[in-house]
Amino acid sequence: MKIAIIGGGAAGLMTAATITEQNTGAEIFLIEQNTILGKKVLISGGGRCNVTTGIRNIRFLFTRYPRGSKFLSSALYGFPPEAVYGWFESHGVPLKIEEDLRVFPVSNNGQDIVGAFEKLFSRSRVKILLSHSAKSISYTDGAFTIEFRNSPTIVVDKVIITTGGQTFRQTGSTGDGYTFAETLGHTITPLAASLSSFISRDEWLKSLAGVSFEAVGLRTDRIQFPTPVEGAMLITHSGITGPAVFAFSALAAYEIATPKEPLTIFINLFPGVTSENFLLQVKSACAGNAKRTIENAIATLVPKSVAKMLCAMAKIEGERHAAEVSKKELEELGVLMQNLPVRAIGRGAGDEFVTAGGVNLSEVNPSTMESRITRGLFFAGEILDIDGFTGGFNLQASWATGRLAGLSAAK
Ligand SMILES: Cc1cc2nc3c(=O)[nH]c(=O)nc-3n(C[C@H](O)[C@H](O)[C@H](O)COP(=O)(O)OP(=O)(O)OC[C@H]3O[C@@H](n4cnc5c(N)ncnc54)[C@H](O)[C@@H]3O)c2cc1C
Repeated sequence: MKIAIIGGGAAGLMTAATITEQNTGAEIFLIEQNTILGKKVLISGGGRCNVTTGIRNIRFLFTRYPRGSKFLSSALYGFPPEAVYGWFESHGVPLKIEEDLRVFPVSNNGQDIVGAFEKLFSRSRVKILLSHSAKSISYTDGAFTIEFRNSPTIVVDKVIITTGGQTFRQTGSTGDGYTFAETLGHTITPLAASLSSFISRDEWLKSLAGVSFEAVGLRTDRIQFPTPVEGAMLITHSGITGPAVFAFSALAAYEIATPKEPLTIFINLFPGVTSENFLLQVKSACAGNAKRTIENAIATLVPKSVAKMLCAMAKIEGERHAAEVSKKELEELGVLMQNLPVRAIGRGAGDEFVTAGGVNLSEVNPSTMESRITRGLFFAGEILDIDGFTGGFNLQASWATGRLAGLSAAK
């Protein structure tokens, strides 16, 4: 039996490793258009590779995937984060769980992750075809013909498409797999960027570039999120970024954010506090010292630069004595602090940056990763309509679906 895996990223590496470890005697071709394997894995987690998560509760794990969690059930139960952890350790890569539950190699070097596969392949039957750019895949009479842009055609019995999404195209994820899937009868759900930062030209943001918040809440009037989005946020010269922003971008992946149609994001600087209780906090900050200026009073709650900006936005002179500011003005200030509007006019690259959308999940068997349309065809990784939040969830999905596709294809 001949099996071809198209794409030597996270999912393809795990698929190839799984098939070879099943010892079926199958001839395995791992096809990669780059000159090296796992280019995106190498840059993931800032080069440290946030390989999976320390979360052990699978039900909670599902909540980390805005799209595809139900489909992932078999794959995640079959190869959960602790099994991924064990797999890498047993292949010579010691891992560690950091305080925020992200898992990294102890060496803080993503090369070790790719190296584990390279080591395994060097003593196995996997034929690694680097610099092989697949151009088309066709299926006739139970066989797949793979044509390349630069190499001779091959014919195989089974194909696993693991070509990834279409972000960070310089890593090789050029979106070719979507065309292959369509040619083989599949539909692709609308594609969009997820885990992005947001670009804004709002004047007030410019004066605060570099200011970070440990916890903010983010919402939009356009859609209702299943759970509140809260976390750290950083204001940059071009807009807003950070974990809360990435989570927001995942949930709002399909919302338009352009100069013509800006997406208004409301920042709550005090999430988890009701507006009534928050107003009491604002009032007590102002009541403490009658001579204190309103700007200084608000600066007991937020950084000074933010207090200044808030007073300006609320059209309250910062030098006024806090005691002189009317109840109505304070109320307005309180509302503003829990609903600061940012007009997002575009998306920038995030720490991770993945593609939302992909191969329609209803056309793939979640227990095997095999196509329900073309027998012998499998999918794994980001090419599927699955994406997660930051924190190792996207690689976890690639390892788990890659593992399941490998086990199924090896049968
Ligand atoms: C900057 C950055 C940092 C990230 N950090 C993390 C992190 O720390 N933790 C985490 O969980 N996730 C992270 N992610 C997301 C994660 O890396 C991806 O979700 C994951 O790598 C997807 O794996 P994949 O195998 O499906 O696709 P990819 O890793 O994209 O691999 C696809 C492979 O297919 C090859 N290919 C494509 N078309 C062809 C073709 N026609 N012929 C031959 N080969 C082809 C490509 O060259 C590529 O090597 C990050 C993403 C980015 C962009």
